Amino acid sequence: MDYVKLINCMRCGMCLPACPTYKETFLETASPRGRVALVRKVQEGELDQSEQLLEYLSLCLDCQACASACPCGVNAGELVAEFTCERKESRGLGFMEDLILRKLVPHPDRLETSMVPMRIYQKTGLQNLVRKLGILKMFPKQLERMEGLLPDLPDKPLRQEIQVITPAVGQERGTVGFFLGCVMSLIFSDASRATIKLLSSLGYKVITPKSQVCCGAPNMLGGDMAGLKEAAQTNIDIFASYDVDFIVTDCGGCGAELKKYGHHLDGYKSAEIFSGKVRDISQVLALHADQLRAKLKPLPLKVTYHDPCHIAHCQGIRKEPRDLLKLVPALEYRELEAADACCGSAGTYNIERPEMSDLILKRKLDTIQATGAKILVTSNPGCLLQLKKGLADHLPDVKIMHLTEILDLSMNGQS
Ligand code: SF4
Ligand code: SF4
Repeated sequence: MDYVKLINCMRCGMCLPACPTYKETFLETASPRGRVALVRKVQEGELDQSEQLLEYLSLCLDCQACASACPCGVNAGELVAEFTCERKESRGLGFMEDLILRKLVPHPDRLETSMVPMRIYQKTGLQNLVRKLGILKMFPKQLERMEGLLPDLPDKPLRQEIQVITPAVGQERGTVGFFLGCVMSLIFSDASRATIKLLSSLGYKVITPKSQVCCGAPNMLGGDMAGLKEAAQTNIDIFASYDVDFIVTDCGGCGAELKKYGHHLDGYKSAEIFSGKVRDISQVLALHADQLRAKLKPLPLKVTYHDPCHIAHCQGIRKEPRDLLKLVPALEYRELEAADACCGSAGTYNIERPEMSDLILKRKLDTIQATGAKILVTSNPGCLLQLKKGLADHLPDVKIMHLTEILDLSMNGQS
């Protein structure tokens, strides 16, 4: 860990109002400033790594809202994540972590097979029966929560049905590589199909290599830096074999991780080149606003936008998604208060810290309700899962869509 990043904190407190856990607790230990101070004390040998300390740090969502607010460039979320990752790394992977992070996640075919029982569970009507009878109440709370978050699965993951090459419609303007993302392909395949359709209709040939693997974000979370570097190396080699202008993703979390490959594999030129080509889909679509505007048809809907942390805070992208929504004729855009505040999803945080996650989600739902919008747009699978469930439970008349789904709807109608 870079000690200089810790001592940069001048304890001004400007990050406090941005931190979701501080807003809920008003505790210094649950604030960015407090977390930086705790990690610093450990690094200086003045504090032991007690269970209590780890408990304080584990309440951080790594949403990085503090980084956007800090005038000194301190990123408390990233520092806590690095500290936790180093600690887990020194301990080594446990049996379950090894099984998930090494034997499952880096193998898209195994990941897809692991979802088959869930698909059968849903398609046979067993899910409805289980929910009706409240059977899950007999199992650990975490299982019930995970099951509740799962939306209707598509018949097939996108990776299994998409062609490697999707030709450009009309005159070809360039070639892009499409990064699938595990959750997008397995669960939100309609959104990624819309992404590819939009790119192709704007004149891009889209290449979707089937051998690409997970971006490595789960490895980072699990303290498995070696696994993350392996995933990065695999993806870099795969995309390097195609001549692409950009590597496009419609998953905020993947985009943030892919853009860091150059940092993770420091000094490795191919990693820098790879990261330099990565674009969030909104960045590419925004380049062709005029052409897009000419293709969009009216959608008389009240729409608001939630900034995923991985897009707004980690990648600094805020303007493009809004500008794109405002291109849609007849669409009434309503800005969301604290739109870039975390929704409480944060990887597996909503399973591991349900109470705090629910408090943060409630704030988000209240702001959504205040807009009067009937469609909530966002662009990250974690946010989509969390907010879809939150809306279904508390604001059932508000629908959630990925940014590319609403643009595709405006361009092509109901697909
Ligand atoms: S992290 Fe940044 S904003 Fe927060 S107290 Fe330190 S210097 Fe101030
Ligand atoms: S990453 Fe988010 S939760 Fe963690 S300290 Fe920063 S603002 Fe707070």
